[in-house]
Amino acid sequence: EEAKEPPRIQRLSESVVNRIAAGEVIQRPVSAVKELVENSLDAHSTSINLLVKDGGLKLIQVSDDGHGIRLEDLPILCERHTTSKLSAFEDLQSIKSMGFRGEALASMTYVAHVTVTTITKGQLHGYRVSYRDGLMENEPRPCAAVKGTQIMVENLFYNMAARRKTLQNASDDYSKIVDLISRFAIQHINVSFSCRKHGATRADVHTVATSSRLDAIRSVYGISVARNLMKIEASDNNPATSIFEMQGYMSNANYASKKITMVLFINDRLVECSALKRAIEIVYAATLPKASKPFIYISIVLPPENVDVNVHPTKREVSLLNQEVIIEKIQSVIESRLRSSNETRTYQEQA
Ligand code: ADP
Ligand code: MG
Repeated sequence: EEAKEPPRIQRLSESVVNRIAAGEVIQRPVSAVKELVENSLDAHSTSINLLVKDGGLKLIQVSDDGHGIRLEDLPILCERHTTSKLSAFEDLQSIKSMGFRGEALASMTYVAHVTVTTITKGQLHGYRVSYRDGLMENEPRPCAAVKGTQIMVENLFYNMAARRKTLQNASDDYSKIVDLISRFAIQHINVSFSCRKHGATRADVHTVATSSRLDAIRSVYGISVARNLMKIEASDNNPATSIFEMQGYMSNANYASKKITMVLFINDRLVECSALKRAIEIVYAATLPKASKPFIYISIVLPPENVDVNVHPTKREVSLLNQEVIIEKIQSVIESRLRSSNETRTYQEQA
């Protein structure tokens, strides 16, 4: 067969490039929620409230009481790669904020309609402005505002027909959003969170700031979970093996569940670590006769240079320096706690 003429190579237009990239950063409504809530946390908010309509496709509204955004920054707020959190690449080593790449808000404006209302300290009124494709649609208009920032993301994926179609099941994404807020709420116990479906009178997550982690877990996951938890701690401070500090809560031998709940934060970032998850599941399966699945909350703190945070925003899976050693240490702490809890239970049953 005769070889075909090679097709011509063309440069994609900027708006096509931006929309494709945005669709990767914001894969579904819950990815937008995560970015917005992380921004609110980065702005030192003490109260973060969500309103969600139609699983987030119609509306995601996040209101916080953080430091707000300056009027003079509003014109570039939603451009790609504009951020208040990073200036030199080297800063990535020590970055404390959850955002840093200045991509989230921009991405949302390429696949949704974004409206920002914000007020900074000492101002008499706030400003409201809408964005599309990275740019302001109008000059910021003065408006009444309470402390902080409110961001509305409307009609998500209005310009991505296929994505909208695959996301029809609105209740599915709403439960992902509730699950996400639940996780943030038990990590950031000094912040109050709420998440409500549009039209509902009751919030599905509602926490008040507290100093007790167990209280936070109780108000999010319920009494039956909280009363069956044990505190766990582990650490190592040996540069030759591993350096880390871990604390958390694990379910005891009386807790019964068909599915595992694992909430993992590493250096305050919500992440997944399937190797650690597997290690924990193995311990529970081997120790408990009925093989009940655990509830487990773990927060690990490592030297920042031992975790690479410069990953794609949607890649939640992390790998750590000396991961095997850290996992083994955590696994053995969990195993011994679970064994002693199981022995107590067996003893109680016999008595
Ligand atoms: P990043 O978080 O990576 O900096 P984003 O696109 O998420 O990028 O946000 C861009 C900038 O907008 C942030 O650096 C921050 O200065 C500002 N910002 C976004 N959301 C808020 C908020 N809720 N409160 C205050 N400032 C915000
Ligand atoms: Mg951000």
